[in-house]
Amino acid sequence: MRVAVIGAGIAGLVAARDLVDAGHEVVVMEKSRGLGGRMAARRADGDAVVDHGLPVLDVPRDGLLAGFVVDLATDDLVEVVAPGEPVPGRSTEGAPQLAWASGMTRLPKAMAHGLEVVTGTRVAAIRSDGDALEVAQDQGNTLGTYDWVVVTAPGAQAADLLDHSPRGAVRAADLRAVPYDMAVMVLAGVAVEPPEWFAHRPLTGPLSYITNEAAKDHLPVDGVASFVARLDADVSEHLMEASDAAVLGEALPALATSLGAAAASPAWTQVKRWRYATTRERLDQSALNPDGARVLVAGDAVAAGPRMEDVAATGRWAARRILES
Ligand SMILES: Cc1cc2nc3c(=O)[nH]c(=O)nc-3n(C[C@H](O)[C@H](O)[C@H](O)COP(=O)(O)OP(=O)(O)OC[C@H]3O[C@@H](n4cnc5c(N)ncnc54)[C@H](O)[C@@H]3O)c2cc1C
Repeated sequence: MRVAVIGAGIAGLVAARDLVDAGHEVVVMEKSRGLGGRMAARRADGDAVVDHGLPVLDVPRDGLLAGFVVDLATDDLVEVVAPGEPVPGRSTEGAPQLAWASGMTRLPKAMAHGLEVVTGTRVAAIRSDGDALEVAQDQGNTLGTYDWVVVTAPGAQAADLLDHSPRGAVRAADLRAVPYDMAVMVLAGVAVEPPEWFAHRPLTGPLSYITNEAAKDHLPVDGVASFVARLDADVSEHLMEASDAAVLGEALPALATSLGAAAASPAWTQVKRWRYATTRERLDQSALNPDGARVLVAGDAVAAGPRMEDVAATGRWAARRILES
């Protein structure tokens, strides 16, 4: 069976790994240059590693993700045990919070090892081609024909693809209605001694949380410690199209309230915008993918809950559906 998986985030990589392990031919197509989707890391000034998407991975012991971590990515694994509030609303009670010294992309990179992954390739359409499905780019360039396609993009982006797929329009309308919170992130290098805490939630002001990257062994460079501040959902929506200067004008005074005056004039800053950061509601994956559908939707829009474990399970569900067909 030939399968195209659209998106190299966790859901797509779980689906691809399961299918390849079962002997199928799989191509993962990813629009960005990197792997991991919203499990994202960058190098900031002085080569500091900063996770600007998912801050930590909370994995139930013995769960699906724990299996991938143990098999593939233990060498620079960090269990984040520093005191401080869990990242609001998302963390699993009692589950270890994992990160990697080399950044959160460590796990997706390990999962992608040995898979055929084509990066820098945005899929624009999925069309019927006789019994097969043709996957194509914006300019109409074909990316090949497949027996199955697994779409793992966030809801609205998945909907755009389903709109152009056989009998996908109704499912697209449901997906388009899945609500996401936006997230504008400020990455900042501040000349302070890293605090004891990992995550801090200011009680007032525009920030939803601040993470102290040193707690994940992203160590200070030349006395400059790295922090990531997430603006809350309403402020993020308001500032999504604003200039970096406007974002920093909102975030830095609030950062200084938590970290001290040095944070008002950081050694370096970067701004990252996520239009689709976290889902507030999700669809039922089986209902959205009726029997007979060969374009399957996985990813957080159809997860059973808000945890990364639930997101990963959607990739496994899609692989099973294909394997049992
Ligand atoms: C700032 C932030 C904080 C978060 N905090 C938490 C948290 O604390 N706990 C938690 O559980 N979750 C959190 N999340 C959400 C979590 O990261 C996501 O739910 C999860 O990573 C989604 O995985 P996925 O595989 O479904 O999608 P993604 O990781 O988004 O992967 C989908 C991939 O598809 C690619 N793609 C999209 N469209 C196309 C196309 N047309 N062609 C080719 N490729 C395409 C994208 O580039 C992306 O790489 C957070 C997210 C952000 C951004």
